[in-house]
Amino acid sequence: MRVAFLASEAVPFAKTGGLADVAAALPKALREQGVDIILALPLYAQIDRALIKGPPLEIPVDWRGRVKPTLVWRSDASGVPAYLIDAPEYFSRASVYGETDDHERFAFFGRATLTTFRHLGWTPDIIHGNDWPCGFAIIELRARRRFDPFFQKTRTLFTIHNLAYQGSFDANDVWWLGFGDQRDQNDFMLNGRASALKAGLNAADALSTVSRRYAQEIQTPEYGYGLDWLLRARADRLVGITNGVDYNVWNPETDPHIAANFSLKDLSGKTACKRDLLQRFGLPDQTEAPVIAIISRLVAQKGYDLIKDVAGAIVESGAFFIVLGSGDREYEDFLQDLQDAAPRQVGFYRGYAGEPLAHQIEAGADMFLMPSAYEPCGLNQMYSMRYATVPIVRATGGLDDTVENYDPVKGTGNGFKFHAYEAGALLDKIREALYFYSKPAAWQQIQRNGMMADNSWSAAALRYTELYQDVVKL
Ligand code: ADP
Repeated sequence: MRVAFLASEAVPFAKTGGLADVAAALPKALREQGVDIILALPLYAQIDRALIKGPPLEIPVDWRGRVKPTLVWRSDASGVPAYLIDAPEYFSRASVYGETDDHERFAFFGRATLTTFRHLGWTPDIIHGNDWPCGFAIIELRARRRFDPFFQKTRTLFTIHNLAYQGSFDANDVWWLGFGDQRDQNDFMLNGRASALKAGLNAADALSTVSRRYAQEIQTPEYGYGLDWLLRARADRLVGITNGVDYNVWNPETDPHIAANFSLKDLSGKTACKRDLLQRFGLPDQTEAPVIAIISRLVAQKGYDLIKDVAGAIVESGAFFIVLGSGDREYEDFLQDLQDAAPRQVGFYRGYAGEPLAHQIEAGADMFLMPSAYEPCGLNQMYSMRYATVPIVRATGGLDDTVENYDPVKGTGNGFKFHAYEAGALLDKIREALYFYSKPAAWQQIQRNGMMADNSWSAAALRYTELYQDVVKL
C-alpha cells in the first residue's frame, strides 16, 4: 500500500495547531504497520533548513500556462520520507496561513506535489489530503484521472480536522488555477464564492474526520458550518477515527523537557514539575493550591467567552490560573488584564511558545480546561491525562469521545465533563473538580484512570489502514 500524505503543517517542520502533531505521528504509525508512506508539505521560510537534505529534485511544474521549475527537498526528520515543495514566492511569508493569495499558494502546492510523484515514477494507491489546503490536490487528482493513466488507479481520502476553516476565495479565480471543467467548478462553489474545502469534500473518494462524535456533529446545522447538507449526502463515505497521542513525545516517564519524571507507579515527580511551573510564571511557591491551565489558540472555538465569565470565580477560589496561547486580540487583552489584576495567581504567556513550555504546563498543572464550543478531536485533553492532569471539558467532538466524567461511587472516569455551552455549567464542573482535588484519594484515582487510558496511535493507524484497503477498491 503506497500512501501520499499531504499536509500544510507537520512537526518538526511547521506547526500552528493539532494538525501538525497528527501529520507527524500518524504517518509514522502507518509506516510501522507496513504502509509505504511519503509526507509532502510546503517548504515555508520558517522551516529550519538543517532539517532538509539536498541535493533537491528539480521538478518542472506546469503552472498558469508556463513551466515553473521548482526545487523539492527531502527530509527524514519527522520519521517518514518527506518531500518539501520549495517555491519562495508562495511559501516565504510571515505566516503559514492568512495570506490573501492562500488559494493560489495551496493550489500550487497540490499541483507541484502531484507532479513530483509523476517525476519520481511513484504512483500512490492513496492520496490522503488534510483540511482545505489539500482540497486542491484532491480535486486535481480526480480531474487528472480522466486523462492521465499514471494516476488512473489512485484513490483519495480527505480528512477534516476542522470544518470551520473552508479555504474561501473569489470564484473567478477557480478557472485560472487550472480548474476549467464545469463539474470541477461547481464542486468549488459555495454561497457565491469558491471553497477549497468543499471541492475536496465533493471530489474525494472517501472522507474521514478526527473523532466519531465530530463525524456525527458535522452532519447537523449546528456544527456543519453551512456544509452539513453535503456531509449528510456523503455520509456513506464518511467515518470518524479519533486521533491518538505520540507517547514517544508525550510521556512523563521520559520527557526531557520537564523538571522531574513521573509515572503511574510513582507520581511524586509531579510536585517538582508544579514547583518549576509556578516559578517559570513568577508565581508563589504554594504547591498545595491547585493549578488550572489552558494551552490553546485564543479563538472563540476554544470557549474563551465562557472563560471570560468564570475567570473571576477561579481567582476567587484561590487557585492558580495559567494560560499559554495567542490569537484574537480581545482574548489576549482580557488575559493580560486578568494577570495585571491578580499577578500572584494568574500566569499568562502570550505567543506561540513551542514544545518545551507546553510540556512543562501539562506536567505541572493539576487541571486542564477545554470548554470548547466545538472540538474536532483535541489533543491536549489526552496529553493532560497522560501527565496526571485532570481535564475539564465540554462534551463535544473528540472531547466527548475521550473524557469520561468522574463517578465517585463506581470510581470510574478520567475527568469532568459538562454539556450546555454555558458559563454556569463550566463553573459547576470547575467547582466539582476543586472539591475532589481536596480529597487526595479520589483525586489520585482520577489521575490514575487518566494515565491508564490508552490513546496511542497504533489503534487509530490500524483503522486508517483498513480504510485505505476499502478505498482502493472504490
Ligand atoms: P487545534 O488543532 O484546534 O489548535 P488541538 O488541541 O488539536 O487544537 O492541538 C493544539 C496543539 O497546539 C497542541 O499540541 C498544543 O499544545 C499546541 N499549542 C496551541 N497553542 C500553543 C502555544 N501558544 N504554544 C505552544 N503550543 C501550542
